[in-house]
Formats: sequence, structure tokens, C-alpha cells
Amino acid sequence: MKCPVILPSEPARLKALSAYGFDDEQLLQSLDPVVRIASRMFGMPVAAVNMIGSDHVFFAASTGVGHVDMRRDVSFCAHAINQADVMLVPDATLDERFHDNPLVTGDTNLRFYAGVPLMSPEGLALGALCIIDDQPHHDFSPEDCKRLQELAKMASDRLELRRIEVAAERSTPQIQEDASSFPTPHEEQELRQQASVDGLTGLANRAKFYRQVEDVLIRPAPVALMMIDIDGFKDVNDTLGHTLGDAILRELATRLQQLVGEGDLAARIGGDEFALMLTGMTDAGAATQLAEAILVAIARPIKVDSHQVHISASCGIALAPAHTQEALELVGDADLALFKAKRVGRGRVYVFTPSLRMEAMARRLYGLELHRAVDKGEFVLFYQPQISLSDGSITGAEALIRWHHPERGILAPAVFLPALEGGPLAATVGSWILNEACAQAAYWRRSGAPRFRIGINLSGAQFQVGDLATEVMETLARHGLPPEALELEVTENIVLDNDDIVLGVLRRLHAQGVGIAFDDFGTGYASLSLLKSYPLSRIKMDQSFVRGILTSKRDASVVRAILDMARNFDLETIAEGVEYEAEYNYLRREHCDEAQGFLFGKPMSAPQFELMFGIGRAKAIA
Ligand code: C2E
Ligand code: CA
Ligand code: CA
Repeated sequence: MKCPVILPSEPARLKALSAYGFDDEQLLQSLDPVVRIASRMFGMPVAAVNMIGSDHVFFAASTGVGHVDMRRDVSFCAHAINQADVMLVPDATLDERFHDNPLVTGDTNLRFYAGVPLMSPEGLALGALCIIDDQPHHDFSPEDCKRLQELAKMASDRLELRRIEVAAERSTPQIQEDASSFPTPHEEQELRQQASVDGLTGLANRAKFYRQVEDVLIRPAPVALMMIDIDGFKDVNDTLGHTLGDAILRELATRLQQLVGEGDLAARIGGDEFALMLTGMTDAGAATQLAEAILVAIARPIKVDSHQVHISASCGIALAPAHTQEALELVGDADLALFKAKRVGRGRVYVFTPSLRMEAMARRLYGLELHRAVDKGEFVLFYQPQISLSDGSITGAEALIRWHHPERGILAPAVFLPALEGGPLAATVGSWILNEACAQAAYWRRSGAPRFRIGINLSGAQFQVGDLATEVMETLARHGLPPEALELEVTENIVLDNDDIVLGVLRRLHAQGVGIAFDDFGTGYASLSLLKSYPLSRIKMDQSFVRGILTSKRDASVVRAILDMARNFDLETIAEGVEYEAEYNYLRREHCDEAQGFLFGKPMSAPQFELMFGIGRAKAIA
């Protein structure tokens, strides 16, 4: 067994720990909700905040813990505090540090451990937030690690408030022994201030926000929480620099402060994340209207130096008592709503619904199953034909992923893609799609359709790992495909989220002759401006417009304008979701190049596709 390392900072660490008033190892009640949520969120029987003393450890809060050996030598958390981020032990029996640890071999029967160090403001690790199971877990994902870190931040905030309280108690005259080492009332005031105010904007900080939400809910009083996240703020920082980025955040803070009333609270709770607590608000409709007005206020141009900056933001709303009475849960609900708002698009407002909790749980469950799906090869590609509008011939197909689930049958991407793309397997599956679709296209080009073009949807994750441009070129070469046989489909979200990386990769591929299609065109808001700077070859007009061309004059004129503009930019066009003859005729008249939709064929398996279009094996039979 490996004993935890004691770092040179140990004396400073123990001194820092003593400032939190755990001398008689008392529990800290404000940490109870954190461990409860940790246990529930990850489905683990045990969660604890463990403080590390000089030779033994003790719980500041815990749930599900029986009798445990509390010596520092055997403690997992004592190892975790020497790590910068999450210490993950999927199976302790397979870990050389722990396989013969008494907590593993004895009655405690510890198998899985994940712990995050809890830091003092000076960066000294006081203890760790951990979750523990007597079962191994090999599927604890990076996303799970992030969530655990978020909870650890909450725990750290609560510890920090505790430290301030202890400092205040100790400085009161009757128990004061050595006045010099305790803060003066003025210093104490300053300490309190620092612990509750965001230094950059002067708004309340995260700790103050949580505390205030708790106070209101304990009363209990109705309240609406709004989580507001600036869209693509990283790009703003990257292009304008941090000084201007900070100025923008300060301006937004001022605007938010002006919008909240007395008894309400505006806070900055993360780099580009703000939160509002609005008391007395019970109606989701009214909250939504207000949130929309707030987003409009945020979207007003900001003048910093000589720049005119346009910002958009997304907002998630949760209401108490309608959604929950528990403060941490309410914050979590508003966060889930924000997550959803961001997924729907930019500049959106979304009100929490209980189904979001189910979705989050489903994401976790699917997360587990997805590993199996990858291992066992349960994904398949379907192909949907693309048709030339000038002569009705087939030009190629879009590859669309399906999950052949052993119990639930063929699943559409809407069911599992959010879990897949939010998890660690996105790039692996992306590579598989690329290879599989290219192999299929190469086969069809050799057997009856020599000019066949394959469309492949990319996900953001594929740009984050390795070198996508090289991977694509190597895949084409491996299957003997020319670059024009491939068209990569990207959406506005992919482009806006990782601007510089994506742009570089697409430029290289476009220069080599690979087609780049802008997917779902017309649904976003930055689409027009993007056309100028992006190396595109085609735009795919979103189905929502096609749906309206026959009934809505407005949609019809938008479609005409898009087609016009595409011609000006020298781009090919394809209309998605064509279901009716009349839509087809209209698009032909407007000189749209190609179309795709149920009218010509739904997405189908490769053998079905061959039968329907007389290529491949079907052609050999014919
Ligand atoms: P998308 O790229 O916009 O794909 C078109 C979607 O519209 C497909 O849904 C297709 O089945 C559907 N569709 C096609 N024609 C019609 C029509 O005439 N009427 C109607 N109502 N719908 C039509 P699907 O296959 O469920 O895919 C949904 C989305 O999932 C795709 O939207 C794409 O964003 C994503 N996706 C699918 N396959 C992949 C993949 O292999 N990789 C990645 N990264 N994303 C994928
Ligand atoms: Ca697509
Ligand atoms: Ca599309």
C-alpha cells in the first residue's frame, strides 16, 4: 500500500485548516446538501467532505458512511489533496496504490473512489469532496468529473463562509485571547466583503448568491432564478483581448444591476455567467417575458474603446416553489434549463421542466450504454438520397447515424446524440462515421454510381482532438476517393463555438477540394455574416423554410433571398425536408440546385438504398 505523500506546505496547510474551526471536529451543516446532491447525482451510496488533519481525517459532512478507519495513512482523500483536479479510482482492487489498503480489503469494501481537493483561498488543500461505492465504475466520464468539480466549488464556497464566521466569532472581545492574530472589525468587514463580492464587476459572487437563495427559500418566499450565459464569450476575449473582455463584463453587470429591483439580487457566478434572483415571481410566463427583455438589454451594442461589440446571451429559468423548495436543487434546475437553452440555439430563454431532470438522467444512463454500443459495433449508418433538381438524377446521399439498440430497436440520433456529443466518445464515433461512410461511397462509386457524393455530419468534438484535416485526407486516400466525393456538413453552432480551430481545418480541407456544406442554414442568426469568412461550397436550406414556402409569403421570399445570395457567393444549394411535389416544383422554378427529403426517400439502410437506386449488389442482380 502506498501511503499519502506529505508535502512541504504541510505546516501552512494545518494552520489554514485551523482557521475553519474544526478543532473539535464538528460537522458543518451547510455542507450537508452538497454531499446529499453528490450522492444522488452520481447514484453513489457514499459521499463525504473529508478534512485531512495531521495524522487522521474527519468528516465535515457525509452521507451513507458506516464505521470507517480514519487514519490518514489509509485515507484515499489524503492522496486526493495532493492532486490538482479529480482523483479517480475506477476500481481500487486494480490500483497499485490501493489494492491492499484496509479500506479495500476490509469490511468497508471500497471499490470506486472519486475525490476533488477543497482549497483554501491561498491554494492549500484542506480536504476533499468524495464519492465512494463498493462497486467498480469504469464509466465515470470527464463530464462527470466536471460536475463533481462544480460541486466541490460549492463546498469550497461554504467552507470559505465558515472561515469568515469563525474569524468573526474569534474576534469578539469575550473570547479574544490574542488580539493581534484576529481581524479588527474593519478587517472583518473587508473579509466579509471579499467573500461575497465579485472583484471585477462589484456584483454579488457565487457564494453570496447561493447563500441568499437559501435564505429566501428558508423563509419560504417565492422566487425565480435566472442563469444567464454569454454566447461565445471566449471568442470575444480571444479577439478583443482580456482587458476589453473585462470591460464588457462590467458593462453587462451594470445593465443587469439596473434591471433588478429591491430585494432582488444580481450576481456573477462564473467567468461569463451571471445569475439573477427575483423575489416574489411565481409565474413562468412573466419570468420568460422579463428574461427576454433582459436578453434584449444585453444585446444592445456595447462601446468599448473604438469597438462596437454585439453580445448575445442565453437564459435558463427555474421557479420556487413550483420546481423545488431546495436551494441547491433550484440552482441546478436553472442550470439544466440554461443548458437546454444553449442547445436550442443562441439568445434563447428556456424555463425548467421536470423532464429536463429525466433528460439529464437519461444522458447519464445512455453515457453508460454508449461504451457498450461502441465496443459491440451497435451503430449503423443510414443513407438519404440527394437529388438534382435540374434532371431528377441522384447526386449522392447524406449519411445519418442510427443506434441499433439490442432492446429498443433502431434509435434516431435525437435520442442519443446529446449524450454522445457531450461525452468522451464523440470523436471516436465521429471517426467511425467518416470511415464507414467513405467505405460505402467508394463501393457505390465502383459499382454503378461513379460520381456519387457522400455527405457526412461533423460534430464539434471532432475538431478538438487530433488533426481532423489530416484524418479526412487519409480516410479518402485509404478508400481511393477523390476529395469531391466527400461533403462535410457543419452547423453554425460548431462554427461559432470553436471559431479559429474550425476555420483552420475547414480551410485546409476546402483548399484540397473537399466539399463543405453549411447545414440547417437560416435557423441561426449569424449565418449571413459567416458566409463571407467561411470556406463553403454549399448551403443546406433548413427544412423549416421549405415547410413554409407554399403557405407563407415570408418564408417564400426568405428562400428566394437565400438562393439569390448563394448564387452571388458562388455556392451550390440544396433544400432539406422536401416532402411534397409542390415544394419540389417551386424549388425547381427558383433554380435551387438539389433537394433532399421524404419525397425522394427517407434515410435507409445501405442494402435498401441499393435496391431503391439500382446500385451496388442490387445492380449486379438486375
Ligand atoms: P440534419 O443533419 O439536419 O439531418 C436531416 C434530418 O432531417 C434527418 O434526421 C432526416 O431524417 C430528417 N429528414 C430528412 N428529410 C426529411 C423530410 O422530408 N421531412 C422531415 N420531417 N424530416 C426529414 P435524423 O436522421 O433524425 O438526424 C437528426 C440530426 O442528427 C441531423 O440533422 C444531424 O444534425 C444529426 N446527425 C445525424 N447523423 C449524424 C452523424 O452521423 N453525425 C453527426 N455529428 N450528427 C448526425
Ligand atoms: Ca446534415
Ligand atoms: Ca440539416
